[in-house]
Amino acid sequence: MSLHGLTIHELREMLAQRQVSAVELTRDVLHRIEKVEDKVKAYITLDPEGAIEQAEAADIKLKEGTGGPLCGIPLSIKDVLCTAGMPTTCGSRMLENFIPPYNATSVMKLKEAGGVLLGKVAMDEFAMGSTSENCAFGPPKNPWNTEYICGGSSGGSAASVAADECIASLGTDTGGSIRQPASHCGVVGLKPTYGRVSRYGLVAFASSLDQIGPLTKDVTDCALMMNVISGYDVKDSTSVNQQVPDFRKALTEGLQGMKVGIPKEYFSKGLDPEVEKAVQQSINILREIGAETVEVSLPHTDYCVAVYYIIAPAEASSNLARYDGVRYGFRDKSSDTLLDMYKNSRSQGLGAEVKRRIIIGTYGLSSGYYDAYYKKASQVRTLITEDFKEVFKTCDLLASPVTPTPAWKLGEKADDPLSVYLSDILTISANLAGIPGISVPCGFSGAGLPIGLQIQGAHFQEEKLLKAAYNLEQRLNISQLRTEYL
Ligand code: GLN
Repeated sequence: MSLHGLTIHELREMLAQRQVSAVELTRDVLHRIEKVEDKVKAYITLDPEGAIEQAEAADIKLKEGTGGPLCGIPLSIKDVLCTAGMPTTCGSRMLENFIPPYNATSVMKLKEAGGVLLGKVAMDEFAMGSTSENCAFGPPKNPWNTEYICGGSSGGSAASVAADECIASLGTDTGGSIRQPASHCGVVGLKPTYGRVSRYGLVAFASSLDQIGPLTKDVTDCALMMNVISGYDVKDSTSVNQQVPDFRKALTEGLQGMKVGIPKEYFSKGLDPEVEKAVQQSINILREIGAETVEVSLPHTDYCVAVYYIIAPAEASSNLARYDGVRYGFRDKSSDTLLDMYKNSRSQGLGAEVKRRIIIGTYGLSSGYYDAYYKKASQVRTLITEDFKEVFKTCDLLASPVTPTPAWKLGEKADDPLSVYLSDILTISANLAGIPGISVPCGFSGAGLPIGLQIQGAHFQEEKLLKAAYNLEQRLNISQLRTEYL
């Protein structure tokens, strides 16, 4: 198999043994990008020269034996994370020319671990969307079939991993944006517990929901990336000062004694039969390999889409007020007055979905409606959180689909934002409650598109998620199916 088709753990071994150099590996991945990027369109910014320089530096460290856990590994980064000296567009015209003066903490940690940053990958504008079609620079495509969406908003991250245009990637998840594209592209994606990974340098969408996490080719790589990016950061007051375990250690144990809840509300009408079948098969496997499964109930599931689509836009309307043409990004230079300048800069710099969210959010927070919308949504959010607390008193994990359907065709739902919002129903409650969730490939639709299994756990129980996902992966061997199909 070619180098770009391998995983972090395989390549790290080869690099350490000097069977391959970081420069050779980086060149190989850059060639792969050259070959398939026309079809996939995962990257917004690509930095081949910078990548080779980083790889040269990695080779020196590898020779000295001082390389970190990602030393020499080519990575892509969702374009919502600040990268010093490299454009960070958030998929928006508004920030088309924004070059941050600093690195996000998560990016800095990847660099310190020796990661080679190839460039920045496409996403829905300001991470608002489920298809990546809201990207101002064109949507990335699903590498399994480029007529289909790759999911979103971290679509470029998932597509670049699935197409072997990088070895692993970082994405962000506010309502499913790591897990959903991971599921649609047949890769592993983990949304950590809120507070596990520093959000410093992540351009905010909805601050109480946003989390950064890895998209990788297998569960072992996911654990390795989590080891690097997790941990308390004085620069993020919501990061939690909690010890970070060695996540890789969790991967060796079996599932005996583990109790997995199957939330009945996640298997209701609207669930595609092919998705249901693949997920049920995986649940059977979890049972065969030692887990006990029980049906459980999350009674407030029906409200989570409504709650999310009040709270997330409310926070977004406040967070995006900073794009006023004065401090950041695009400015309309033709306006005569300050007010016109604000208006024109925002009208021209922001796309339709972002405007829709700002309008909804501003409405929900306005004085006459606050009690009816934002306050009520916040109260129901607490009930949703309590549903999870209740089930995790008796269960270790929850297993379910990630999305109600496999990926759909590009453009198919472009005029129907509501049906796209509804497709988030199985992922957004984890963000409302702050709990971790992983998507692990578990099968394929009749059309040959990947399907993911979602495993959720209580706060800071990522080890259990990884353990269950790893055991399942060992049985399914799906990751071996994923290369060289483009
Ligand atoms: N699809 C959801 C939304 O559009 C989630 C996005 C995300 O997780 N960033 O808000």
